[in-house]
Amino acid sequence: MSGTQSLIMDIAGNLEKIRNELPEGVKLIAISKTKPAELIRLAYDAGHTSFGENKVQDLAGKHEALPKDVEWHMVGHLQTNKVKYIASFIHLIHSVDRYKVLKTIHKEAAKHQRVIPCLLQVHIAEEETKFGFSEKELFEMLDSTEYQKLTHVKITGLMGMATFTGNMDQIRKEFRYLKGLKDRLKQQFFAADPGFRELSMGMTGDYKIAIEEGSTMVRIGTLIFGERNRT
Ligand SMILES: *Cc1c(COP(=O)(O)O)cnc(C)c1O
Repeated sequence: MSGTQSLIMDIAGNLEKIRNELPEGVKLIAISKTKPAELIRLAYDAGHTSFGENKVQDLAGKHEALPKDVEWHMVGHLQTNKVKYIASFIHLIHSVDRYKVLKTIHKEAAKHQRVIPCLLQVHIAEEETKFGFSEKELFEMLDSTEYQKLTHVKITGLMGMATFTGNMDQIRKEFRYLKGLKDRLKQQFFAADPGFRELSMGMTGDYKIAIEEGSTMVRIGTLIFGERNRT
């Protein structure tokens, strides 16, 4: 009982502490991956409604289990054959990392008469294992006439993950690059579109730097829900 009680206090307290630090215009996405619906419910009861997951199956299950006014964010690598399981309800897909998956999202969104908001994930880290478009791929896609026909997706910005390193200068450099890229794309492809405005960057270890470098959405898990079991 007292254990549960302190957990409730922790999650609500952690959320409040982070929210108090965020400048106006920066949105907090609570990354609840690997955490059970009961814990997410505690954050919901504390007034938080934006949650992010990295697996389609978990999104679908938790969407079922939790109140329908929760905004669900997909932040993990997305296989095309699984888009159909989230197309009816997903609020924002942060992790569109290749053209093929954008086409699939368009197709599945059309079946639900939806326009699904998407961020284009850019590869900014040194690690080869991280996903994302290169700058060249982005310009090629946005320039193509085929892309113009994807009327059931709406690109609202960019997402990036910095290198996992203690070198804060490097992290800052990567975030600054992403902000510069967003500004260039805005000018070239989205100049007349106020909807292209989001920059999803910053996690538990680097969100303060991300905010200084222009983030509009921070994706924070550990600092809210505690450490995850390594999988
Ligand atoms: C897990 C995850 C996060 C949150 O990471 P923390 O370090 O726990 O804050 C953010 N973004 C993505 C894409 C993730 O997979």
